[in-house]
Amino acid sequence: MAVIRDVMPEFQLFQPASVADAQKLLEQHGPDAWVMAGGLDSFDWLKDRIKKPKALVDLSGIEELRGIRTTGDGIEIGAMTTLTEIVRHPEIKEKYSLLSQAAELVASPQIRNQGTVGGNVSQDARCWYYRAGWPCYRAGGNICYADTPVGRNREHAILHAERCVAVNPSDTAPALIALDAKFVLRTPKGEQVINAEDYFLGPDIDITRMNILQHGFLLTAIRIPSTWVGAQFYFEKLRDRNVWDFPLVNIASAMKLSGNTIQDIRIVVNAVAARPLRLKAVEDSVRGKERSAATGEAAGKLAVQGAVPLQFNAYKIPLMRNLVKRAIGGVQEATWA
Ligand SMILES: Cc1cc2nc3c(=O)[nH]c(=O)nc-3n(C[C@H](O)[C@H](O)[C@H](O)COP(=O)(O)OP(=O)(O)OC[C@H]3O[C@@H](n4cnc5c(N)ncnc54)[C@H](O)[C@@H]3O)c2cc1C
Ligand code: SF4
Repeated sequence: MAVIRDVMPEFQLFQPASVADAQKLLEQHGPDAWVMAGGLDSFDWLKDRIKKPKALVDLSGIEELRGIRTTGDGIEIGAMTTLTEIVRHPEIKEKYSLLSQAAELVASPQIRNQGTVGGNVSQDARCWYYRAGWPCYRAGGNICYADTPVGRNREHAILHAERCVAVNPSDTAPALIALDAKFVLRTPKGEQVINAEDYFLGPDIDITRMNILQHGFLLTAIRIPSTWVGAQFYFEKLRDRNVWDFPLVNIASAMKLSGNTIQDIRIVVNAVAARPLRLKAVEDSVRGKERSAATGEAAGKLAVQGAVPLQFNAYKIPLMRNLVKRAIGGVQEATWA
């Protein structure tokens, strides 16, 4: 199938100035509408002519979707806040540095200047068959091109695959889940506030979507409670090129210690499944234990139980195991074997 990269398909461009107006437009145009934030993912789809919406609803003129505010119990980040603004924000750096670390490792400075946090958590899978317009399961077809003996699947899933083996590529998503963030949605039925981890969908729920957004939905803000302020944070991202690249695997954890005993922890990995995975079994297994290399070692082994490699991504199993081991044990040496 031809991929045309010269001119974008024709669409009507709408630039509402309020969330209410954006919602009206989305209701009016239904499945023909496309929500655009920073445009980094959106323009790929449009320029390759794989998605051809009739109406583009550009959120960039909606002031109420921008900015970072201190609330009674934490902070609220507007969905259109750029990743650079998050990286530079003094309160986020001081109290929620897990998020600023994750945001700083997204792509390049130019992409962080334009890319928004709402777009980052809502971006689509990067599987190249799908992005090139192949009619696979995720595109509504009846086959997965990546999961065949000759399929290129080095970056794909090792856990919870169900026909589609694509992964969620977001760096900020695991940090937000580890911080117990809440996502604020505007839906045709009103406002909805959900736990960050419930925003993401696996192919067992819907193979064509990576999150719960449906026609007429907007993500308006992300709220981070102060629950984990002062905790020990760990974020690590492994990628092919450290200049800028999507994660092969990333990990985010927030840990509360009493002396050297792990009192409480939230730990999340991404790029190993179609949605970021909170490792609840690992959390349960280490609570009350000493933070040590041995605890990390056992946790790493537990984390990868049930992992199934594809033809070219078996390396992700020791990679994930060792990231968990380091996040929990505090061990800094890289051991990938
Ligand atoms: C070359 C390149 C490298 C990248 N590397 C990384 C990386 O290393 N790590 C990483 O995490 N990301 C990476 N990204 C993704 C990038 O960081 C952007 O954040 C992401 O593509 C989308 O952000 P955006 O604001 O441009 O959103 P858009 O592209 O405009 O939107 C993305 C999707 O989200 C939907 N959407 C956006 N905002 C809302 C909203 N408020 N409500 C409802 N729907 C919404 C849009 O409809 C669209 O489907 C990379 C992107 C590129 C192009
Ligand atoms: S991994 Fe998913 S997105 Fe990629 S070809 Fe298979 S079904 Fe399509």
